[in-house]
Amino acid sequence: MTFAKLNLSTPILEAVRELGYETPTAIQKKAIPAILSGRDLIAAAQTGTGKTAGFVLPILEMLKGDKPSGERKRRAKRLRALIIVPTRELAIQVESNICQYGKYLDIKSMAMFGGVDLEPQKQQLIDGIDILVATPGRLLDMAHQRALHFDELKMLVLDEADRMLDMGFIGDINKIIERLPVQRQNLLFSATMPDGVRLLADTAIDNPIEVSIADNSTTTPQISQWIVSVDKDKKSALLSHLIKEHQWTQALIFIRTKHGAAKLVSQLEKRGINAESIHSGRSQAVRTQILADFKSGEIGILVATGIASRGIDIDELTRVVNYDLPDDADDYIHRIGRTGRAGACGEAVSLVSMDDFKRLCAIERRLNQIIDRRTIEGFITVKELPKSNLDFVSKSADRKTTKSKDKGNKEQTSKEGRKSNTKNPYKNSHNDNHKEPPEISEASTPDSENPWLRIRKK
Ligand code: AMP
Repeated sequence: MTFAKLNLSTPILEAVRELGYETPTAIQKKAIPAILSGRDLIAAAQTGTGKTAGFVLPILEMLKGDKPSGERKRRAKRLRALIIVPTRELAIQVESNICQYGKYLDIKSMAMFGGVDLEPQKQQLIDGIDILVATPGRLLDMAHQRALHFDELKMLVLDEADRMLDMGFIGDINKIIERLPVQRQNLLFSATMPDGVRLLADTAIDNPIEVSIADNSTTTPQISQWIVSVDKDKKSALLSHLIKEHQWTQALIFIRTKHGAAKLVSQLEKRGINAESIHSGRSQAVRTQILADFKSGEIGILVATGIASRGIDIDELTRVVNYDLPDDADDYIHRIGRTGRAGACGEAVSLVSMDDFKRLCAIERRLNQIIDRRTIEGFITVKELPKSNLDFVSKSADRKTTKSKDKGNKEQTSKEGRKSNTKNPYKNSHNDNHKEPPEISEASTPDSENPWLRIRKK
């Protein structure tokens, strides 16, 4: 199938062609016609499957209007499509995709997020925009300040809905939805479909078409995953060894804390490896610059806390490394989704110490797959990691995971997110779903429909 068959018009087809997209991905084939038909949509799709173009292309098609460029007047502070995303990085990414896909159209877009001055954003809204990509906290703040109005809104997209719920944004999202016109088209994209997302869909979405990329598409991310068992105090030495011995020129390394990130960068530098870090302790301007340098290849090794786990869209990112395993198995899936995008091959390496073991078990249960283990010469562990068992259930692990998440151990990108958590009407049902290590049969997406269970083992 070609893009032309999807009823997209010439300016959009031309922009897509220039980007080198030859055929639509699986999610695009399903989502684009559904959206163009005017129906609401719920789509189960991972980052990396081309989902952004899956909703941006039809939105552009529907908003472009019939009038020639320049004739349509934009009213100040009004928008026609609203895309709500969990992180500022993703907001920037989605908006830049809109600019790319809409380069031959008279469509104005804007990315809006917290942590930066309100005034330039307010001015941009006054000047007039068509599509707003925003994080929930700043969006609600702007709506309260009457800096934007929703009366001309036609389309709402909730992107990475599971992530937004996980970050405690449900209260803000509900308050925003209450302000929207009843007559609108709703699109919800989520990597996983836990109960909280279903509840959100029930309240916000009307008689939707549901799609998932459960077909045998070749665009399913191809990711080779392996772990190395390592003593905790040997992790940085092992990482340096892997970078040097395997001549890794590019790696995105996930670590738990911002202090850990800074320390790791200096340890790597002492061993002659140039690295940079992004975390919530660095200003937005610095983070944006570092991401741009990582994308351009100027920075090869990037150490990141959770803030970077979504929204990094780099063609051909070859490798992610879990220096620390995440508390939540879904976060592991999102992290490794940085690589193997749009059908390319990728590698996901995890350095697993004894204290990561229970997290490893939860991740393997979620994937329904034992991840390959490799031994690296010179790094024999003092305490050997137990053999994995997909049936392993540890009540203490569950409690510990829940406790550490509740304490806010996990880094969050937004004060608003933390605040709204306390008011989250879906908190219990959602948390139950996320914090209880999923049994194999209880994976959020049915196994038969879950493309991640087909991740290639090396
Ligand atoms: P996404 O899942 O939206 O984050 O997209 C992942 C990557 O796939 C991005 O780098 C897109 O530029 C790329 N992409 C999206 N659609 C296509 C397509 N039809 N063909 C090739 N690459 C694509």
